[in-house]
Amino acid sequence: MRYSQTLLPTLKETPAEAEVISHRLMLRAGFMRKLTAGVYSYLPYGWAAIRRVEAIVREEMNRAGALEMMMPMVQPADIWKESGRYEKYGPELLRFHDRHDRESCLGPTHEEVITDIIRRELHSYRDLPINLYQIQTKFRDEIRPRFGLMRGREFIMKDAYSFDVDDAGAEVSYRKMYDAYKRIFTRCGLEFRAVQADSGAIGGSFSHEFMVLADTGEDTIVVCKDCEYAANMEKAVVKVVAAEEDVALAELEKIETPGKRKVQAVCEFLDISPATLVKTLVYLADGEPVAVLLRGDREVEEVKLKNLLGVAEVEMAEDKKVFDATGVPTGYLGPVDIKIRVVADQEVAHLHNFVVGGNEKNYHLKNVNMGRDFEVEAVADLRQITTDDPCPECGGKLDLTEGIEVGHVFKLGTSYSESMQALFQDSDGQEKPFVMGCYGIGVSRVVAAAIEQNHDENGIVFPIPLAPYQVIILNLGLKDEAISTAAEKLYEELSAAGIDVLLDDRDERPGSKFKDADLLGIPYRVTVGKSFTKNKVFEIRNRRDGRTEELGPEQTVTTLIKQIQAAL
Ligand code: ATP
Ligand code: MG
Repeated sequence: MRYSQTLLPTLKETPAEAEVISHRLMLRAGFMRKLTAGVYSYLPYGWAAIRRVEAIVREEMNRAGALEMMMPMVQPADIWKESGRYEKYGPELLRFHDRHDRESCLGPTHEEVITDIIRRELHSYRDLPINLYQIQTKFRDEIRPRFGLMRGREFIMKDAYSFDVDDAGAEVSYRKMYDAYKRIFTRCGLEFRAVQADSGAIGGSFSHEFMVLADTGEDTIVVCKDCEYAANMEKAVVKVVAAEEDVALAELEKIETPGKRKVQAVCEFLDISPATLVKTLVYLADGEPVAVLLRGDREVEEVKLKNLLGVAEVEMAEDKKVFDATGVPTGYLGPVDIKIRVVADQEVAHLHNFVVGGNEKNYHLKNVNMGRDFEVEAVADLRQITTDDPCPECGGKLDLTEGIEVGHVFKLGTSYSESMQALFQDSDGQEKPFVMGCYGIGVSRVVAAAIEQNHDENGIVFPIPLAPYQVIILNLGLKDEAISTAAEKLYEELSAAGIDVLLDDRDERPGSKFKDADLLGIPYRVTVGKSFTKNKVFEIRNRRDGRTEELGPEQTVTTLIKQIQAAL
């Protein structure tokens, strides 16, 4: 491609709206332009990068035996009502009525559509297993679209769905996708980890998220320094270190704590550690108040709470709501004779003689013990893990890092096939629901994540497999016939060898051509200028390590072809 003939509008200034580096660089390098919040037009350069990711995804999905297809973006509400998700799915699901007043929505994901297809088309165990995928535009009306392609409202996803006769089969399908994802992200040239994840509203038995490690990641992940364990914060299992048994239970005591409402203030006043105080927090679980007990120095992991209670939403209750529900002013709530439902973090079950709120203004209770002084509805792992906790698998040291979720594999089980009556006849003549899995990759997000991980102060540093062009040729003598002829010849020869080349034939100063080449992040830059006039050589520069060498025209062609082919 000749630069003069493409649409590649680079910007010198950093657009003010862009908060993260990938967003800044993608706008500056002419990848895309915003149409409205979270909705972008992909310009040719950005689209080419997306197509690179798509090609790798497609190859590996096909290699894993999945079949490509394409499903509609507009979906009728009926099938969402059948699965029970029309009400459950939050406002991210864009719902609308068509001209015949039919309830419809824009697809944020396609479990319902694919399940509807399969229940109509497949009826026998002989047809299974099957895995179908598409690469398609999704719409999710995200509350806070941000960071450019990282969290759009409209974005490109590869989604795949597997159907098996039983759990064992579904696990084989899951494993195949897990392995394919590893190959995909490795081939993209990304540093990533597959982590155990919460399976969220989509439901299901287990799942892994594929996280690209980058400082700007929105997700915190827990990784073990000593073993392979890696998990999303939301899912990271806290291993309770068993406390001493046979502790004598002391007598319950009511103590005056005037004006001491915060954990820290109570602890200072009583001269105790927050680890011996149990706080009582009130959450609204789908609107209903539930008290959560946990150690004074711990934080609630809301996803764990949500999963325990089996609700769609949990949020901290405001002071007024707490007072209305319990009759206790803020800061003095406790589990003894409390008026609302109570659940406890597992650690509380191992504590003895702790301090809690006295359910009365200016009072706390001392020497409180679960079981003796109060009961709870459930005890579970409800808190956030910390780096002081041991690895749940090997007991080793944990580390927290940031990650960008680029892919997600779920073993769904039969939740959709049961609710939507998608049944097949098994070899024993029985009708059974299909056992499903679903597998997503955020194709447009992969490009953003790749840039988060691969850039320097001058711009993008594309991994070779994702670069829209592998080589940029700078013609620095547009009016010099020898230079222009040599640049054109190199362009022809590399292109003929199947390499994607951008020939910068613009009438611009050399300085600005060098700057743009760096910004665009094209792996190899070939300068045709003074050295050619003098010594008949080109200067070849590697974008990643900055190394340069001078080679004659023929050697330039063979060297570049060799290096690029080795990287693809
Ligand atoms: P997130 O937690 O980031 O909101 P999710 O878990 O809801 O994502 P999935 O339903 O697992 O997303 O979708 C599969 C993949 O699609 C994700 O792994 C991610 O890479 C991508 N993705 C999801 N939401 C967005 C978005 N708003 N913009 C760009 N990519 C997205
Ligand atoms: Mg996900």
